[in-house]
Amino acid sequence: MPKHGADAVRAHVTTGTDVVVVGAGPVGLMLAGELRLGGADVIVLDQLDAPTTESRASTLHARTMEILDQRGLLDEIGTPPDEPMGHFGGHPLDLRLPGPYPGQWKVPQTRTEVVLGAWAVRLGAEVRRGHRVTGLEQHPDRAVVEAAGPGGVPVRITAPYVVGCDGEGSTVRRLAGIEFPGTDARRELIRADIDGIDIRGRRFERLPHGLAIAARRGDGVTRVMVHEFGRTPRAAEASFADIVDAWRNVTGEDLSAGTPLWVNAFGDVSRQAECYRHGGVFLAGDAAHAQMPIGGQALNLGLQDAVNLGWKLAAAARGRAPARLLDSYHEERHEVGRQVLSNIRAQARLLLGGPEVTGLRQVIGELLPYDGVRARLAGMISGLDIRYGGALTDAGRPGSGPHRLAGSRLPPVSLRLRAAPGGSVTYGVEADGSSVSTAVLLRGARGMLLVTADEEERRDLLTVAARPWSRSVDVMTAFRPAGGAADGLAGGALDGVDAVLVRPDGYVAWAGTSAAGLEAALATWFARDTRLAQSVRATPATPKTTAPGSRGGPTDRHSSPTGSYIGSHIVRRENMGKLTGKTALVTGASRGMGRATAERLAREGALVAVHYATGADAAAEVVERIERDGGRAFAVQAELGAPGGVHELFLGLEQGLKERTGSTELNILVNNAGVMGGVAAEDTTPEQFDRIFAVNAKAPFFIVQRALTNIPDGGRIVNISSGLTRFANPDEIAYAMSKGAVEMLALHFAKLLGPRNITINSVAPGITRNSNPVFDIPEAVTAMAGLSTFNRVGEPEDVADVIAFLVSDDARWVTGSFVDASGGTLLG
Ligand code: NAP
Repeated sequence: MPKHGADAVRAHVTTGTDVVVVGAGPVGLMLAGELRLGGADVIVLDQLDAPTTESRASTLHARTMEILDQRGLLDEIGTPPDEPMGHFGGHPLDLRLPGPYPGQWKVPQTRTEVVLGAWAVRLGAEVRRGHRVTGLEQHPDRAVVEAAGPGGVPVRITAPYVVGCDGEGSTVRRLAGIEFPGTDARRELIRADIDGIDIRGRRFERLPHGLAIAARRGDGVTRVMVHEFGRTPRAAEASFADIVDAWRNVTGEDLSAGTPLWVNAFGDVSRQAECYRHGGVFLAGDAAHAQMPIGGQALNLGLQDAVNLGWKLAAAARGRAPARLLDSYHEERHEVGRQVLSNIRAQARLLLGGPEVTGLRQVIGELLPYDGVRARLAGMISGLDIRYGGALTDAGRPGSGPHRLAGSRLPPVSLRLRAAPGGSVTYGVEADGSSVSTAVLLRGARGMLLVTADEEERRDLLTVAARPWSRSVDVMTAFRPAGGAADGLAGGALDGVDAVLVRPDGYVAWAGTSAAGLEAALATWFARDTRLAQSVRATPATPKTTAPGSRGGPTDRHSSPTGSYIGSHIVRRENMGKLTGKTALVTGASRGMGRATAERLAREGALVAVHYATGADAAAEVVERIERDGGRAFAVQAELGAPGGVHELFLGLEQGLKERTGSTELNILVNNAGVMGGVAAEDTTPEQFDRIFAVNAKAPFFIVQRALTNIPDGGRIVNISSGLTRFANPDEIAYAMSKGAVEMLALHFAKLLGPRNITINSVAPGITRNSNPVFDIPEAVTAMAGLSTFNRVGEPEDVADVIAFLVSDDARWVTGSFVDASGGTLLG
């Protein structure tokens, strides 16, 4: 493809990433968050310096509300006013359908954007505003986006994938040469937000000369919309004078005394991109489909495009996408877009047509009270009736009966998870544990096999079948929801199926009873982990051959304890960053630097074992916080320095790892737990000395020794030392000696472990804030801060960031070394 634009200037800054998203509106931001959840790096470019403050779309439909719930974003949206009644072409239409969010929800687009923007950034998306895209090159393996950054500085970003979320006039679509067939607007509506007027509210009032709509908001501002029958779109921007004229022509009322806050005109344009994908370039939202913004469908359609595309693109960027996964984006969303555009065209005709549509309007008005008609239209508008055609059943295609779920959204029901005795991932949730909604189970944006079979043997069979996909698919076993209403949805939604395979976007990829059917669906939608596939093949027994009543065979080896980790890890996400797919143990992670390190490593995608000695509640809080942020962690208790402490640590560690990954492999070990002495040399007793050495030096040695059976080639070890091996403090001689000893681990083990590409290093913090009360005394903090060249005390995160680097692949060339992380303490 030829290179467009920007030829004249040579780019100054070149960056690489997995996906470039052009457009930081709600669709682009939603996509960025979804990509991060899937572990892809993303840069979002937007030509505006700041988000728009225009109110634009203000309606979220039921399916979008469910999607926001799936990602845990509803709390931040607040409690939007809900409105059961929408309209179809101006006829009132009851939008309520079974589900937790019936009707439509009024949320200003600015609010949606703030929430999605903060979420995407929290997950690690990089949003660059003030960047106008000027060029796009497409190569077989990558695309190059050129943009003019702030001050016109040329910027080049290379990425395998580029997504245009840049609206109806999409630059990406134009530069990629994607056709946008359809019809231009032939009729025009003008709308304005006006302050200081007092007119009668009107929903869709058809008058002899046009259509008038007026609604006063709580803040006294009135949203006015008007169409003069036969009025074609004007060439220039609409002005306040235009709306005053049009309103007078249609209603006879005068708005000229009001103050316009915002005026714009739109029409009944209807265009849809010929293809939503062209090589590595994709389109989503209004860039893919331009339509009249009737009933908020445009924004909802766009957000749902983003959620459909995000996990697929992330899987491709991470090398985990089966063949044709990316093509399914166009296949699924182009068809949904086609249907929505068609219903919007019908509505535009009913709304903006003159007297010639009066008869048609009357017929539609007579049909709407029939519940079948109402439900059909409400299903279309709310997005609840979407059914993707590529989903499979045992019979190979979506059908009725038990297979009716395939291709539809996972019904939002409450489930009680059971302790699952087998499979790749089991969740130690007690059978009588509290119920959890399916929306919560989807928060991690991973694939999910939800096994609801009553018979244990069937459950085991399906669970084991899914095991080779455990890197992408979590297995959960649950009780079927009891009959009766559950979260607004009639019970029995999962009746007749033994299991449903759910995609990260919440749609059912397969529903049925046969393990072979399940395997076919898994292979269609998720990449198989060949290593695990081999280990499953190597396992001689299968549940089929298991004697009735017994639990022999492979399932025994994965049986989970119940209760130990109740509710603490039912939501998980993988692949968020550089440590995707890695497992880590951080000792002493209940507080201080250990806690900050555990949280940081989890943010990078690692499954983290949060070790503690006495702070069970604090450790549980760390785990909870990591999971709330979408990471994965579990707590492990062990008293180090006490007899059997290391053994106890590894018992808990291995059990926790096996539960979640099917193996006891540990990629990262951070020996952080430590105790200080705080006793003058002359007062130090032999017992105190031994205790300091036992916790700070002896335990790390034996933890490394023991961990080497778990750590594969390429693993990482970091031991926390102290700046006191460099600066004198007579109150901490024994402590400093123990840290001097711990530094020896790095030097000597580095030589031993080099052939296995395992690195081991020491990190020496300076004075770093922890729960010691001394940090509550301002004078003491000032004095301590003065020791650092930066004139502040260290924060746990300052050290955690250094550790995160040392355990990443970026630090592969650093071993046996001592890293000072003391903020330039006592530089002289
Ligand atoms: P902290 O806030 O004092 O927390 C210590 C952690 O270690 C806690 O999680 C604690 O677990 C655990 N721990 C203590 N004794 C243990 C034992 N016998 N067995 C198992 N776990 C034990 O820690 P910090 O100040 O962040 O320091 C972390 C590391 O950095 C330590 O090795 C420390 O020596 C070193 N360091 C600290 C500073 C500093 O100024 N803070 C400076 C230089 C070096 P429970 O609370 O759950 O019992």
